[in-house]
Amino acid sequence: MFKKKSVKMLAMVSVLIVSLFMMAGCTKQEPTAAKEGTAQKGKTIKIGLSMDDLRLERWQHDRDLFVGKAKELGAEVVVQSANGDDQTQFSQCENLIAQGVNVLVVIPHNGEAMAPIIEQAHKAGIKVLSYDRLITKSDVDYYISFDNIKVGEMQAESIVKLAPKGNYFLMGGSPTDNNAKMFRSGQMKVLKPLIDKGDIKVIGDQWAKDWLPEEALKIMENGLTANNNKIDAVVTSNDSTAGGAIQALTAQGMAGKVPISGQDAELAACQRIVEGLQTMTVYKPIKLLATAAADVAVKLAKGETPKSDGVVNNGKIDVPSVLLTPVAVDAKNMVETVIKDGFNKLEEVYKNVPKDKWPKG
Ligand code: BGC
Repeated sequence: MFKKKSVKMLAMVSVLIVSLFMMAGCTKQEPTAAKEGTAQKGKTIKIGLSMDDLRLERWQHDRDLFVGKAKELGAEVVVQSANGDDQTQFSQCENLIAQGVNVLVVIPHNGEAMAPIIEQAHKAGIKVLSYDRLITKSDVDYYISFDNIKVGEMQAESIVKLAPKGNYFLMGGSPTDNNAKMFRSGQMKVLKPLIDKGDIKVIGDQWAKDWLPEEALKIMENGLTANNNKIDAVVTSNDSTAGGAIQALTAQGMAGKVPISGQDAELAACQRIVEGLQTMTVYKPIKLLATAAADVAVKLAKGETPKSDGVVNNGKIDVPSVLLTPVAVDAKNMVETVIKDGFNKLEEVYKNVPKDKWPKG
């Protein structure tokens, strides 16, 4: 009680001093670094959005929703995409800083490689929001994503239900993406006890560069050859890599027989699920992420402190964070999740399924 009151009094006194100072015209003082990038009242807020890669379907949703919400909040967004190249992303960010954006939002290709940009941004008084993927070992200001450990758990849980025993192939995502590591640690929470028990044998463990389907295709082809096709389940961390792996399984007449996971509820993956070629995907309502992120970005640009649910340690500091909840989706709940939310349309998802097998209602 006492503490609160004295803080209030202190605040009032400082406001008074500052106002007197300003009234006296003593504003020539050097602004502190932290204030430089802050948006000025009445001026349009400028957000720099630095994206790893727009080649994958999911990120186009993120961009459109983020830009839409930012506009609604009266801000303007400059979008840059690095096509999976660290150096390009770094110089694009430097450029956004030089352009005088009021806040920087980064989806890093490589969470560690982007760390030095935080320092540069801070020197210019610009705060940085780490979007979906964490910028590690840095003083990044805020992190917003989904519960990525939970995503990994959901993937492994649905595969283990269908293949409680057997030879497992693990297909990780991009080795430079911190999320890929989090998905794997969630998967291992479920798999490890079964591996220790001897029920599950991991016969392959590979990571697909840049999450590209063509990488996954090659990895799966080699995995099948090396194991004489004796693979009972594939734990894949997203839909783009699942697509590549399923292409390799199809060539061996194994698609639909081997349980395989995914993530993102991409249209092609939802189609494969209702056709029986992919077991599941993890739906992450991108609208929630993108709109919440736009809101946080505008607050940071104004010099406000956005609310957070907790912190995530990035190897250097505890970063104020919001982690949203993912949803596991298979053929049974496709309609009540992805379709109901308008993320994908029923007629598109079921396009390759005979009409009499479409869900009723
Ligand atoms: C995201 C996934 C996405 C993957 C590839 C990850 O960081 O969390 O949703 O599938 O990147 O773009």
